[in-house]
Amino acid sequence: MATPDEKWPEASFEERYTMLMGSLSKEQQKSSVEQLVFMCKCSRCPSYTGTGETDLVFCTLGKSGVFKEQKGCLCTQCGVTKTMSMRWDHYCSKGSAVELSDLTP
Ligand code: SF4
Repeated sequence: MATPDEKWPEASFEERYTMLMGSLSKEQQKSSVEQLVFMCKCSRCPSYTGTGETDLVFCTLGKSGVFKEQKGCLCTQCGVTKTMSMRWDHYCSKGSAVELSDLTP
């Protein structure tokens, strides 16, 4: 049977999320979300800039409650997307990756 390290390169978002979050405590999960802010490209996105929004990592925290208009998207160029093998975009308007994934019925 393959170990998590062996599975990771080919793993889907759902598999990566389950492997990562399943092994973390609530405190560690909160800390890992804070780490994602450093990779997040939302603050440089044309849909975000100038809107007055201050939240980030919509792929993890869910939709923006501040802006709705889409003027572009940097999601697919973001390190969070690559690290977690996310396959969607416009998380600020569509919702978090977990909400868009097979993890949510
Ligand atoms: S489109 Fe993507 S990169 Fe741009 S603000 Fe929304 S979630 Fe962030």
